[in-house]
Amino acid sequence: MKEIIKLSILEEYIPLIFPEMKEDSGRFARQISLERGDPILDKIARMDRQIHNRTGARVFYGFDIIREYSSDELGNASYFYLKIKPSSYFDPVGEECGTHYEDLLACNECGAGGQQVGPLYLKTKFIPKRTDIAATIAGEIVVSGRLADLMQKHAISGVVLAPVFEIGRGGVTETGWYQWLPSSPFFDIVAPTMIRESLFDEEVTSCPCGDTLGSNLLSEIFLIRPLQGGADVMWSRQYIGRRIGFLRPRQVAVVGKKLINLMSTFEVKGFDVEVAHAKSSDGLWS
Ligand SMILES: [Zn+2]
Repeated sequence: MKEIIKLSILEEYIPLIFPEMKEDSGRFARQISLERGDPILDKIARMDRQIHNRTGARVFYGFDIIREYSSDELGNASYFYLKIKPSSYFDPVGEECGTHYEDLLACNECGAGGQQVGPLYLKTKFIPKRTDIAATIAGEIVVSGRLADLMQKHAISGVVLAPVFEIGRGGVTETGWYQWLPSSPFFDIVAPTMIRESLFDEEVTSCPCGDTLGSNLLSEIFLIRPLQGGADVMWSRQYIGRRIGFLRPRQVAVVGKKLINLMSTFEVKGFDVEVAHAKSSDGLWS
């Protein structure tokens, strides 16, 4: 597996990190891609930690980690993390379109566990075109009617497909999109999974209640298989993310080979695949 780190580095730091790049691009930030292990990443990490400790600011304002696998690595894996492509995220989010959340039972510390009450309402014209799986920037995952039909036809287990509605001038209408809602079985995310506030942070900032593990998933997912056995889609018991504005910590889903193969055969678009490492009750990773 090869890891490529994509960073949007603020222009003011470019001459310090890359002295050979003298000219100011005139833009706010520059997109830089570096392979994991590149010593320049260590330099950026040191600078970012120093500046963050001193001022609270960051050297970069956005990042993405791309993982490229050999066909053997993908062939040998049993579970996969479906990473929705950055281009398949959209807004406005559910709450801005009439979706109701109840936070009465949510964690006082991290805000995880607020419940969506009733259906997801969206403005579907904002869902990126030519995609079958997409997510709002608040993490609500939706799939096209085509993918929902395929999943139903092939009896994919472990996920509830709930119709998405839209509130318009003519009242409430069905959209043909379906929301993925978590359903048992649930798995536990375990070490060495790395979840932090930001790309170069060393400090773990999980909720003292143990529900939210941090804001950003930085590594592949390592999990313990549910005792009652697996399903085609499995959801984490813990949450990742942050409660801020309309954003909420969310449970993450991993999917088995059956659904991945189905999505590949039918050329489903909108996601990348990462290997998820599952440990069974006998302690072995697969
Ligand atoms: Zn909490």
